[in-house]
Parts: sequence; C-alpha cells; structure tokens
Amino acid sequence: MPDPHRILDGLDPEQQRAVLAPRGPVCVLAGAGTGKTRTITRRIAHLIDSGQVGPAHVLAVTFTTRAAGEMRARLRSLDAIGPGAPVAAQTFHAAALRQLRYFWPRGLTWELLDHKLPVVARAARHVGITTTSETLRDLASEIEWAKGSLITPDDYVARAAAAGRETPYDHESVAAVFDTYEVAKRDGAHLMFDFDDLIIYAAEVLAESDAASDFRSRYRCFVVDEYQDITPVQQRLLDVWLGERDNLTVVGDANQTIYSFAGATADYLLGFTRRFPEATLVRLERDYRSTPEVVAVANQVIAAAEERSPGTRLELIGQRPRGPVPRPAEFADDMREARGVVAQIKHLVGAGTDPAEIAILYRVNAQSERFEEALTEVGIPYQVRGSEAFFTRTEIVQAMRKLTATADRDDLPADAEPIRVVRAVLAPLGLTDDEPVGPHAKARWESLRALMSVVDELITDEPGMSLRRLVTELTMRAEERHTPERTGVTLASLHAAKGLEWDAVFLVGLTEGSVPIAQAIGHGARAIEEERRLFYVGITRAREHLYLSWSLSRTGSGRVSRRRTRFLDGIDLDPRRSSRCRECGAQLVNPESRVRGRCGSCRIEERGDGLLAALRSWRSSHARERGVGELAILTDAMLEAIADRRPDDTRTL
Ligand code: ATP
Ligand code: MG
Repeated sequence: MPDPHRILDGLDPEQQRAVLAPRGPVCVLAGAGTGKTRTITRRIAHLIDSGQVGPAHVLAVTFTTRAAGEMRARLRSLDAIGPGAPVAAQTFHAAALRQLRYFWPRGLTWELLDHKLPVVARAARHVGITTTSETLRDLASEIEWAKGSLITPDDYVARAAAAGRETPYDHESVAAVFDTYEVAKRDGAHLMFDFDDLIIYAAEVLAESDAASDFRSRYRCFVVDEYQDITPVQQRLLDVWLGERDNLTVVGDANQTIYSFAGATADYLLGFTRRFPEATLVRLERDYRSTPEVVAVANQVIAAAEERSPGTRLELIGQRPRGPVPRPAEFADDMREARGVVAQIKHLVGAGTDPAEIAILYRVNAQSERFEEALTEVGIPYQVRGSEAFFTRTEIVQAMRKLTATADRDDLPADAEPIRVVRAVLAPLGLTDDEPVGPHAKARWESLRALMSVVDELITDEPGMSLRRLVTELTMRAEERHTPERTGVTLASLHAAKGLEWDAVFLVGLTEGSVPIAQAIGHGARAIEEERRLFYVGITRAREHLYLSWSLSRTGSGRVSRRRTRFLDGIDLDPRRSSRCRECGAQLVNPESRVRGRCGSCRIEERGDGLLAALRSWRSSHARERGVGELAILTDAMLEAIADRRPDDTRTL
C-alpha cells in the first residue's frame, strides 16, 4: 500500500487540492514541468490509500510507451503499483489491445497489421493511383487522421473539405483508397487491425452489454495523462469505459498538443469543465523542472504562437535556482554539428554529469545517425529511444507471430518443458544468453528478455498453462515489465521525449525544414504552430543545461543551403541582459522581472486569471483559520476591488 505520509510530500497547495479532490471529475490544466504527472500519480496513490478505490480498479492511460513507463515508475516508487497491488498504467493502444484480447468474440480472428504501407500502396494501385514514397506516406497519414477523427470512407469527402485538408490527390481519390484499404484488411472471418482499428474495435466490443458490465465492474477509476493529445476515437473509447460514471482525472497542457496530424485535439481538455460542470479544476503555474533561464526561453517561444486558445495563456514561473544561460551554436555542416555537440557532452561528462542525464533530441529519427557516430568516436555510451509501441516492435511482432503459429500447430502445454519451446522460438530473433553489444541489438535483446521473464513468471504461477493462453497474456505484461534502465546519453525524437526530463538537453538540427519540418512549411499557420509546440516540448525537457544547435549545410555539399529555425527569431536567450519590458518597454530593475522579460504590471495583466484563482483558493482554504485575519481582510478587499473592475467575476466571489 502507498505510504500515506509520502503522498502529500513535496506537493504545493494547488497540487494537493487536485490530489485530495473528492471522487469524481478532476482536471489539471497546466504548463510543462509544473508537476502534472507527479500530481496524478499521487492522486492515484491517495485514492487507493484512502480506500476510495482498489488498485486493480484503476486504469491510468497516456499516449506513448515512454510516458506510460514513466507513470509506472513513479507509481512503483509510491508502492501503488507492484506485484501485490497492480495499477494498470498503459498507453491507450496497449489498453485497447488487452481489452480486445479479452473481449473479442469467438469465431472471428484478427491480427495486428505491422506494415500498413504495402496495404495502402495496393489499395492505391487498385483505384488506379501511382504513388511515390512521399505520397504513399501522405495517404497513410491522411487515413490515420480520418480514422482518429472518427471519419469513415463514406463521409471522408465532406469532412475533408470542411476541415480544409490538403492531400496529395483529390479528396474523392483519397476516399476511394481509404475504402479499398479498409476492405483489403478483411479476409472472410479473418481481420487485420491497424493501430487505429485497435481503438475502434475495442470501443465497439466494449459497448456490447455483457462486455461493458464485465469491464465496468473491473475498472472504476480512470486517469489520463497528456489529455491534450487525445483523438476523437480515443475519446469515444474513454467514454465507453466510463459509461455513466464520472470518476475521471485528466491532466494536460494545450501548448503541448503535438499529435494533431493524427487527429488529436486539445478541445476535450479545454472543454472538460463544460462537460463536467461540477469538476474540480486546478491550474498550476510553478515550473519545478527547469531553471528560470530555460523557463524564460520556453515562455517566449510559446508567447510568440499565432493562435492561442483561452486556457493556453499560461506563463510558467520557474521555481528552481538560477542556472546557466541557454546556449545557441551554429555549425558549417551536419558532421561538425554532431562533433561539436558531442565535444560539449564530453565536457559535461568530464565535469561530473551522468551521461544518463543528457539527451540529444531531434525532429526525425533519421537525424540520430551522425550523433551516434560522433558518440562512438569518443566512446560515450548512448541509447536510441524509438517512439513506437512495444507491441509493434519488429522483434515483438515476429516473436508473437511465431509463438501464435506454434500454439496453433499443436496446443503444447507450456510447462517448464515449451519454456524450452518459447526459448527455441525467441533465440533466433536475438534472445542470446549474453547481453549483446551495440545499442540496436541491445534494445532488441532487452524487449525479448522482458517477454521471456513474463513467460517464466506465468508458468511458475500456473504450471501446465497452454501456450495459447500464454500468448494472450504475453505482450502487455512484457511491456509493463520493460522499463529499461536509463544508461548512457539518450537519443530521441522530440515526440518520443514528451513527458520526460534530463539535466542537459541538446536540441539539434534546428533549421527551417527540420523544425518546422519541410512538410509543414507552406501549409498554413496551423501546421507551423504544431511545430512550434514541438519545439516548446523540446525546450521544456531541460532541467538545467539547454543547448540549441543547427548547421548551415549538408556534410559534403559545400554550400550554405539552410537557415536557422524561425522559432528562434526574436528570442532572447539571456533575458537577464535586457533591461526593458518586452511588452511595454518600461525599465526593468527587479532581477526576477529581468529573467522573465516583463515588468510586474504586464505580468499581472497577463496572468490576471491565474492570480484571481490563486487569491480565491487561498481565501477559501484559510476561511476558518486563525492568525490570518488581516491577510484575509486584505484578500477580501482585493477580490472586491477586482470584482468592481471586472463585474463578471462577482458570481465567483
Ligand atoms: P510535462 O508537461 O512535461 O509532462 P509535468 O507537468 O507532468 O510536465 P512533472 O514531470 O510531474 O511535470 O514534474 C516536473 C518535475 O518537477 C519533476 O522532476 C517533478 O518531480 C518535479 N516536481 C513536481 N512538483 C514538485 C513540487 N511541488 N516540488 C518539487 N518538485 C516538484
Ligand atoms: Mg507529465
């Protein structure tokens, strides 16, 4: 059980309010590094500790394997998760996969479609379209967007026109490919599921009454981290999970929405209190992760955003001590950039920073290669973090396919003897006795080892379990087990880095065409703004050291062909130097104002709502307390003065 004394340790009053809110809907709306993930993991621990819900009744979901792993690690450290008290903390897709395995009706069979592009290519050919590798990817992404947005091939044309979708072929042709693709995945009683189908079919199966009542008696409390990234189809699944109930806690930051290309929208987050008017709403502004210098850069980047929804006007307030000024660096070409970055890493490591506390983040995975080379040259260990789901990794798909085929051939008893069978299946895929060298082989080995350790455990618990039943249990449990230790410098894409943090972060390849990515340029403000948010996500991963680098040409090309990202234009990396408010131009005297680049009045004007909420919350939590009389009188007077100026606020006083 969680230790009650530790649950509220290290939480500020607003975080505590979210943790202690009564059962029911809770929404935490806050910027990066303000403790959202910390708050929801503590809330889960509190709900369990206070007996409001059993650990097995909690389902906590998020969107990337890494983020789910991070949540599990934090729950584990609070003893809310573990062999005796398991809280399910999974990605949406992993949860849907598990539910499909349990609730899928007999008769029809399905398997996961691990390579979607060849099926889309065949569908395109079938309707008479010749694709290039780029247009093929664009078609596949468009289908992903449509399915994520709950759009069927039949309503695609109208909805795509309404949304102003830019597609490589006309909307009618895309609809025809989409339709053919959906049909191609069905082969009689056998179905192929792509990633989106997992969610669609899980929602369908669970909406059926027997499955629904079975599921709802099992899960009674739902928590969603990174709620700004939910797609309409995932929201539908969440609604099916909930039924008529409202025991739902969501946390998110609209400024970190980075999956709109797949249909994700912050509308559900921003509209949460309209849907649940009785919800507890908590806003957090204090940034506990990053130094004020890093926070100042993040605030400037997001303040420059062109479209801002209400509720995204949050300015972070750095809580940590001062740190080094973020450093920009320009290089002549790619290889020089890689070597320059690695030289800086070497310097940090030499000065005592653990390589595991350093990350190199880039826009697309293909950018990792030259950094891998440069790290290898100087002998600094590293690991490459993919963003793909555990159960779609090549080695896991291969392992599951082989195990399923073996199970189908002759339903062998999986006692201590198919351990041998399982080992024999996994060995040629890379499950060697000794740990291999090289980051890729090692990553493969680690996931297979996680699979094998679950096999051992399942068979120890239930000797004689059939191979078929074992296969059903396997990937999900293995994914939960698979939280590899952080060793060496992390190389990851910006998408894969969300929710995570490091002491030193190197944002590399910061050129036009990379951040923002070429495909977004010329496609309107919406596409560019998503790239800006991605840049903001990258910046806010750094606790202390932030390096921003770019190179002007491709190695060997010999001519300048690139320019620095537009997102750095007008950004003052050392606001301590500026002596004037960037809003009204007033002279800045106070050192805090210098770090934040704004004078006190502009900050209050900007953060008026937050300030009002803080005053109100303080007043209500101290309403009956002794010894705060004068402050309470002062607060009442301030609230009244605000109500005079802003009559709309009177009702909330
Ligand atoms: P993101 O938006 O990037 O997911 P987040 O809001 O989920 O960020 P967390 O990861 O929960 O933020 O917290 C950021 C860091 O601040 C973590 O290291 C966390 O342990 C720390 N932290 C959170 N709240 C507090 C607090 N009240 N006091 C001290 N440290 C805190
Ligand atoms: Mg988080």
